[in-house]
Amino acid sequence: MLKRVLFTTLSCLILCACAEERQSVDSTDDELSAAVNIPEISNPVIVYSSRQEYLIKPLFDRFTEETGIEVQYQTGEEGPLIARLQAEGEATFADVLYTVDAGNLWSASDKGLLASVDSALLNQNIPEHLREPQGQWFGLSVRARTIVYAKDRVDPSELSTYAALTDPKWKGRLCLRTSKEVYNISLVATMIERLGEETTQNIVEGWVENLAAPVFSSDTLVIEAIAAGQCDVGLVNSYYLGRKQVDDENYPVALYWANQDSSGTHVNISGAGITRYAKNPEGAQRLLEWLSTEEPQRMFSELNLEIPANPTVPSAEQVAAWGDFIQDNINVEAAGRLQADAVMLMDRADYR
Ligand code: FE
Repeated sequence: MLKRVLFTTLSCLILCACAEERQSVDSTDDELSAAVNIPEISNPVIVYSSRQEYLIKPLFDRFTEETGIEVQYQTGEEGPLIARLQAEGEATFADVLYTVDAGNLWSASDKGLLASVDSALLNQNIPEHLREPQGQWFGLSVRARTIVYAKDRVDPSELSTYAALTDPKWKGRLCLRTSKEVYNISLVATMIERLGEETTQNIVEGWVENLAAPVFSSDTLVIEAIAAGQCDVGLVNSYYLGRKQVDDENYPVALYWANQDSSGTHVNISGAGITRYAKNPEGAQRLLEWLSTEEPQRMFSELNLEIPANPTVPSAEQVAAWGDFIQDNINVEAAGRLQADAVMLMDRADYR
């Protein structure tokens, strides 16, 4: 309750302070600082985040320590957060939208909810395939969706590509998460971009053909089904396996980097964009820029076993233990642009 009152009070303060500034949202940073006429340090940055508090709070605390800029955040599911941003329109207090999956960020951008940012630092720190070409959003951490297998029943030399999981030798041995989940929609969307609809549909049909069990509701359940012997191979985001390995270093499931001899392993992002009606766009940009630098990039990897988006920053030890891999360098915005096509394709292929 107290937090809410504080949020509302601060929100009001910001709204009042920004009434003048609002009309000059396209002005340069210097003009904005002059228009606000209060020290930048007193303006909190307000973040709508679909990431959980334990992942974002340590980062925001560190940012505040370093810059003196306070960060306030509201967490929730990505769909409702994006809908809220849309409903609030110009009146929103959110400066930053931070969520997972390029498909979600693309959708916010497609609805006109984000502003383009031209930041030399972000453009330098974040590789081109992990950010929106107009600067509407930037990948901050990378999550790879790749093959996992039962150590005692699969020799990694039998594995190669996502497409090769359609081979009849995997019949009754493959487990997949539901096609309704955005991670799989994004995987299939980028496959459409890379391989075309026809080839992609053949691959998805081949997977369905080889399923050992009805689709699962989570990546963790896929991994547990492999560990339990229900299937031998699956497709998951690597950090879910990482969590299992933290609990048990001899966990019976291992990771394989798919497509290393061809297009590279499919990657997606957690990422953020500055909202179109941000009241503190300069603070928001400072936060995004800071998040792309070394210490926070390392924290992403340590806190959630993800891969730093900034390629100059090494992964956490446990992530590095999976070995270096080549990322598919298709721009992750394809995950959003081809989302509807991917959903229809998976439906035609009877992938439930
Ligand atoms: Fe996840």
